[in-house]
Amino acid sequence: MSGLDPEDWRDLRALGHRMLDDMIDRLQTQAERPVWQPMPGEARASLRTSLPDQPSDPARLYDTFRSTIVPYALGNTHPRFMGWVHGGGTGVGMLAEMLAAGLNANLGGRDHAPIELERTVIGWAAEMVGMPASTSGLLVTGSSMANMIALLVARRAAVGPDVRRAGVGGRGLVGYAGANAHGCIARAFDMAGLGTEALRLIPVDEAFRMDPAALAAAVARDREAGLRPFFVAATAGSVDTGAVDDLAAIGAFCRQQGLWFHVDGAFGALACLSPTLKPRLAGIEGADSLAFDFHKWAQVPYDAGCILVRDGQAQADAFAQTLAYLAREDRGAAGNAPWPCDLGPDLSRGFRALKVWMTLGTYGAGRLGQMVDRACAVARHLAARVEREARLELLAPVPLNIVCFRVRDGADDLDWLNGELVKDLHEAGIAVPSTTTIGGRRAIRAAIVNHRTTEEDVDAMVDGLLMLAERRASGPGQ
Ligand SMILES: *Cc1c(COP(=O)(O)O)cnc(C)c1O
Repeated sequence: MSGLDPEDWRDLRALGHRMLDDMIDRLQTQAERPVWQPMPGEARASLRTSLPDQPSDPARLYDTFRSTIVPYALGNTHPRFMGWVHGGGTGVGMLAEMLAAGLNANLGGRDHAPIELERTVIGWAAEMVGMPASTSGLLVTGSSMANMIALLVARRAAVGPDVRRAGVGGRGLVGYAGANAHGCIARAFDMAGLGTEALRLIPVDEAFRMDPAALAAAVARDREAGLRPFFVAATAGSVDTGAVDDLAAIGAFCRQQGLWFHVDGAFGALACLSPTLKPRLAGIEGADSLAFDFHKWAQVPYDAGCILVRDGQAQADAFAQTLAYLAREDRGAAGNAPWPCDLGPDLSRGFRALKVWMTLGTYGAGRLGQMVDRACAVARHLAARVEREARLELLAPVPLNIVCFRVRDGADDLDWLNGELVKDLHEAGIAVPSTTTIGGRRAIRAAIVNHRTTEEDVDAMVDGLLMLAERRASGPGQ
């Protein structure tokens, strides 16, 4: 036997059909099951095997998947999952993943149709936010990587080619983001060799938006001190509360000051698909670069982040190399330059574009925009319910799809109590919200990202929470 393909394909075909049926059944019936359940120790231990020496039947491995992995997945496809910012995925996205794996395309470069599809998807992304058709970009793992790429492109654009040879040391480069910026911005400064101290965190106003006057003052101070401001990361949809910075004002300031205007729109950029919400993101179309995720609010299966860069040459300048074994030719399979590997750090890359293309194609911008509106309506329903409940209080405004609130009585230490109640909710399998800190107070945070979440689901979460709070209040030792 030489290759790994079977001699008789019938068993594999039958197994494939079974897997497909099971996974579609699961999507259809998941709402009847707990959102999340803890993985028992035996199940955990049963996965810790040593490297298999002998072959085994894939049907047996599939049994393990069904018995030991599926029941203990995180639950983010479930309608009552509201934690962090997780997409719910779709059946169509799942099928696209299978097709992509079947083709096993490598989108690092070369001349093939999958690369053309990625270029199409990047064009759609630019169109979605109103950036020019000439916008360059890449599908990447997520917004963490997309923000990192933006920073590296901006760094190269600010300093010139020398920075790629000599590094960033001693150049006094500094950048800015709101105090509510996602942690991956600071990490990008760290990984880019600039150091997190080179990122100035600008105070936010009472609506948790970066204060443009404070930004201007910080830039002026740094210039005064002989430093070199080069980069501003505005946020469109902050991870804590969904706040959207004043993108038009910050963009205008950046242009006037010669600073790179980056927008982290990880989930918020999708609000551009809603005619009612789009005006709140006015100015996003002026970004020099935009990071966002298709795997969050656009419901494409993980992973599918996106970086858009207005000036494609600037993006290539930051990453392209000339290497003998990657020579670009005028014809043949090695044609079709520039290649995606010229635009980011990855050489081998999967066919993420297919699941994005199939998801956007299936639902269209209109239907996805309605879904975004629906999620915000569900969030407003939850906020209104919180305000009606005597035991609950809202801790932040609800500009988009995130609701931060807490139980206001039942313990001296409310931070502790609310943290415990969230864990209780998880373990009861009722709902999975997460927590954050708002103004120094522990908040229960429900992000309505999953397209399956309805008003009934958020009400079930609140009912469960109040029941668990009551049980704790009347339980032993309280
Ligand atoms: C989720 C998120 C990120 C990080 O994106 P990943 O896709 O998880 O890497 C960055 N910024 C914001 C505002 C986010 O919500």
